[in-house]
Amino acid sequence: MGEQSGTKIVIVGGGFAGVACAKLLANEARAQVTLIDRNGYQQFQPLLYQVATAELAGKDIAFDHTEVFRGQSSVTPVKADAVAVDLDRRSVTLADKTTISGDYVVLAAGAQPNFFHTKGASEFAFPLYNLTDARHVRERILQLYADANAKPELVDDGALTFVVVGGGPTGVEISGALSDLVHDVMPHRYPHLAVAGTRIILVDVGHTLLAPFTDESHAYAAKQLQRRGVELRLGTAVTEVARDHVVLRDGSTIQTHLVIWGGGEMAAEIAGDAGIGQGRGGRIDVRPDLSVPGHPNVFVVGDIANISYGDEGALPQLGSVAQQSGTWAAKNILGDIDGTGREPFHYRDKGIMAMIGRKAAVAELGPHRHELHGRLAFAAWLGVHAELLSNAGAEVRAFVAWAEDFYLRPHHRSAELLDPSRVELPKIHWGQSTPKAPGST
Ligand SMILES: Cc1cc2nc3c(=O)[nH]c(=O)nc-3n(C[C@H](O)[C@H](O)[C@H](O)COP(=O)(O)OP(=O)(O)OC[C@H]3O[C@@H](n4cnc5c(N)ncnc54)[C@H](O)[C@@H]3O)c2cc1C
Repeated sequence: MGEQSGTKIVIVGGGFAGVACAKLLANEARAQVTLIDRNGYQQFQPLLYQVATAELAGKDIAFDHTEVFRGQSSVTPVKADAVAVDLDRRSVTLADKTTISGDYVVLAAGAQPNFFHTKGASEFAFPLYNLTDARHVRERILQLYADANAKPELVDDGALTFVVVGGGPTGVEISGALSDLVHDVMPHRYPHLAVAGTRIILVDVGHTLLAPFTDESHAYAAKQLQRRGVELRLGTAVTEVARDHVVLRDGSTIQTHLVIWGGGEMAAEIAGDAGIGQGRGGRIDVRPDLSVPGHPNVFVVGDIANISYGDEGALPQLGSVAQQSGTWAAKNILGDIDGTGREPFHYRDKGIMAMIGRKAAVAELGPHRHELHGRLAFAAWLGVHAELLSNAGAEVRAFVAWAEDFYLRPHHRSAELLDPSRVELPKIHWGQSTPKAPGST
């Protein structure tokens, strides 16, 4: 490996995992990193539902790679779509047919929504996985309100009935955030539309919300959502999504013009094209050092990886797993360069948490899952997410101030973000320097 020009590392995906990997290598003169991402920015997914409900602008949660790595000459961000990976040659082909080869490849391309072949879902449901999705959800909500305000009879046709599919953290968090929007904000904007005309219905095939949490947390989440007027339809699946309704497995039909899909995810498309062994949800199975079996110089990290972990099976798809695995892959690459060797991945478990809406949060901390609800849970959520954001390049103090205010008080929304016909304007920036406008998405 050429020590002089630096070991070449090609990273596909600039989310939590890819950015963490590049950051550890950024100060290494011995490493030359190419960071490929189709957007050219990192999106902070834990706050997507705030963008979807007009609380934050998209730009608030997008961190431009060129800004994040400015002045770090060993990292070159490339905004491009990777379409193929050659494991033997350790090369990545881009959409324009350019090929970038390295001594190492790190696959960190994340996940995508899984519609589980539900009829009509990929066509009519609104997923909530990336910034584009969140903007589409927001525009749809605002347009439906504007339409219903102009023609109140549309309410009877389901114009203000919102169906959320999935009772995991995404479904629970977006239901809570939607309820805050519907109760705290929309009555001021549309005083002639009755709040009672709005319905939020959460559907999940399981019988509990937040399945990986304890029974107490299941009950807490259900109580908090019901208190906010969210109707729970548990133990039944959505079998069909159409333009103006959904059909449930129990035979019922719900008139709706917005179905938000938080029903599951699977590995990013490129996982299937790489010709590597795939496990649950199409994720790529990795060795304990996070490399691919038979390809020691190819690492797979974050949501796209199936990382086995002791008795717990596989690690969950979380920002902290992604960030730590990205950093770990970088350490193992440096271990190769230094000759100090590799270590098996060790995950520092911070627990699991969800913010259900204003004044409601749940957290189960650490490997022993100490359970917290309400304000203490929110404090835990804040700590973990402030750390994730600071690694993304954000100004943490501004985030903490916003989050505390958001949690405690009914929140004003800026007129720009509530107007479906206006171009989205930035409200606040946590980025240490003003990010460029995110590209096409
Ligand atoms: C709505 C929502 C809420 C969440 N809330 C939380 C939370 O509160 N706490 C928490 O810990 N986790 C949360 N998560 C999970 C967390 O966001 C993920 O675990 C984390 O983003 C995974 O990081 P990653 O780097 O593996 O993938 P990502 O962050 O998804 O990054 C993957 C990157 O790869 C790029 N990419 C993909 N394919 C290609 C390609 N072919 N070519 C070029 N670029 C490509 C994408 O543009 C993207 O930037 C949430 C997820 C969602 C969807």
